[in-house]
Amino acid sequence: MSLNAESTAFRSALEVIRAVEPRVADAIGAELADQRESLKLIASENYASPATLLAMGNWFSDKYAEGTVGRRFYAGCQNVDTVEALAAEHARELFGAAHAYVQPHSGIDANLVAFWAILADRVESPALKKAQVRQVNELTEADWFALRRELGNQRMLGMSLDAGGHLTHGFRPNISGKMFDQRSYGTDPATGLIDYDKVAEAAREFKPLILVAGYSAYPRKVNFRIMREIADSVGATFMVDMAHFAGLVAGKVFTGDFDPVPHAHIVTTTTHKSLRGPRGGLVLCGPELADQVDRGCPMVLGGPLPHVMAAKAVALAEARRPDFADYASRIVANAQALAEGLLRRGAKLVTGGTDNHLVLIDVSGYGLTGRQAERALLDSGIVTNRNAVPQDPNGAWYTSGIRIGTPALTTRGLGTAEMDSTAELIHTVLSQTTPGESKAKYVLDPALADKVNKQASELLAGFPLYPGVDLG
Ligand code: PLP
Repeated sequence: MSLNAESTAFRSALEVIRAVEPRVADAIGAELADQRESLKLIASENYASPATLLAMGNWFSDKYAEGTVGRRFYAGCQNVDTVEALAAEHARELFGAAHAYVQPHSGIDANLVAFWAILADRVESPALKKAQVRQVNELTEADWFALRRELGNQRMLGMSLDAGGHLTHGFRPNISGKMFDQRSYGTDPATGLIDYDKVAEAAREFKPLILVAGYSAYPRKVNFRIMREIADSVGATFMVDMAHFAGLVAGKVFTGDFDPVPHAHIVTTTTHKSLRGPRGGLVLCGPELADQVDRGCPMVLGGPLPHVMAAKAVALAEARRPDFADYASRIVANAQALAEGLLRRGAKLVTGGTDNHLVLIDVSGYGLTGRQAERALLDSGIVTNRNAVPQDPNGAWYTSGIRIGTPALTTRGLGTAEMDSTAELIHTVLSQTTPGESKAKYVLDPALADKVNKQASELLAGFPLYPGVDLG
């Protein structure tokens, strides 16, 4: 029987790698096997298409291309220009943005590009001009001192970590917490929802240069129209980090007030979460910030990764197809089915449900810490991650929450019926796990863990991952 193109491509690639370092080829094969076997509920992960994966393994990896399309510091970048321009075009069209910068190597890098672009736009600073021609990590202490003084301790207001914000939104130990004088807004203790009046009050008192919206662990929509009004009322630049929900924006599940692109001055995202692309980031903005954003490399970014930009172009082209909208709406339907299944069985959920791709279980309802719950679920073949809940008494390490998300399982094809079965498996494990003598220890009957493991495998068996890829 002749092999299909995907199997041939991956088999051949592994054969070539195996001839040099067989352990790498083995690890790659083992990773596919692990991913095929695990019930992946990590809200920030997904499965990129074979075309996206294959676009990354080629000669573009060898090319230096500092600068941007048509304005490079290196010669011979015509093919890099082609893929970078294509990725940017797809991003602009997909999100309806005036400008797209597709070089950031990750979400954190995209945020750094945005911060420095905003600072350069809003603050006159010779030290910053100097920094723009060197990478930030090459600055001396004296440079940083001059920079901070000239930038005047600018302020950033972002969502607090324990309410679901991200550490790049002004928190130590991320550099954003060092660059900015930071304050955060939280969520209402009774409802778990963002209280826009409180955000407006904090903005009036604090007068930030940048108001940041976006999250890693908030299971609800954010009204970006209201957030923009708040930013405007205090003269702040409004930035949205849509790393987690970019796929829902691309798939037109989040529209109107809930689509950040028409409301924010600048939008950043990762490309590998709900957007289902390669690991990386991108920045969207209007014409006013475009020149500053394009200075991302070499200001804060190392040389572009042209092979990843090629893969971004492929993944963004996929996201522009009509079936991506269907995928995005199934992500949310699945998350809601999972939430309902858990609630019906007695779980405690932050905000009482979800209207995006993620669900945050408050596992104190089961008498567990997040760490105990995460480990017990992993023993049972269910991959999740622990996460703080608002006002978490167990802090950011042990936590009291488990964050679960549906982008990956939805890519595999699981639907709402399977989400109910998944809720059953999660509830079974958590309700049968008892806390041990420390916040990390727990007791779970290994026979039960085995049983759930088998049930999880049976659930996945009907939804093969990469059905077109047979490694032999
Ligand atoms: N922004 C948000 C909201 C995130 O959730 C994350 C990752 O978890 C990032 C930024 C950072 O992305 P990366 O890991 O690609 O740097």
